[in-house]
Amino acid sequence: MKPQVLLVEDEKAVAETIVYVLTTDGCDVRWVTTGSEAREALASRPFSIIVLDVGLPDVNGFDFCRETRRQHAVPIVFLTARGEEMDRVVGLEIGADDYVTKPFSPRELSARVRAILRRTAPPPSVVHAPTATPFVIDAERRRVQYFGRSLDLTRTEYELLCAFVRRPGRVFSRDQLMDQAWTDPGASTDRAIDSHVKALRAKLRAVRADVEASE
Ligand code: CA
Repeated sequence: MKPQVLLVEDEKAVAETIVYVLTTDGCDVRWVTTGSEAREALASRPFSIIVLDVGLPDVNGFDFCRETRRQHAVPIVFLTARGEEMDRVVGLEIGADDYVTKPFSPRELSARVRAILRRTAPPPSVVHAPTATPFVIDAERRRVQYFGRSLDLTRTEYELLCAFVRRPGRVFSRDQLMDQAWTDPGASTDRAIDSHVKALRAKLRAVRADVEASE
């Protein structure tokens, strides 16, 4: 299956160039011009990655990214205009995976997109966790089912859960978990990891209160 790219960009000329280069490089691209269209697209089906312009007509791209992060684990690459060059730390904090500054070379953007897809890429098709676990991980869509119910996870919770599920029975240190779940481990604290684990446990308990989730 081709990588599914959601492109959110209101400048037609820029968008057409991106659509062309990403399509040539083997992606399926859905192009929308506003935040509200992007919301609808995200609600309708899963995407492998979002390429997101910061200056949209109806919403600020940073706000859109924050909002999206609360519901979807999909990687996000920002397109920023010259002069609104973003602080890398701020970008990572709100959940961006990478960014390019306009004017950028379409080849460069495509290379970044493919690098992220490789990094987040699953082994082919659906990965079933060892049969002893009640989890089914769909790495392509970055979704997890637990006892047959889809979990609504943040990106960090998803990465943490994958770390637990892939190495059942193993005890992880906070540092190891941070390496698993953050692109920039230095940016987060021990307390942050505790609260992510706590939130994850609560979501699992909401499905099956009688099962103690793996540590
Ligand atoms: Ca724009």
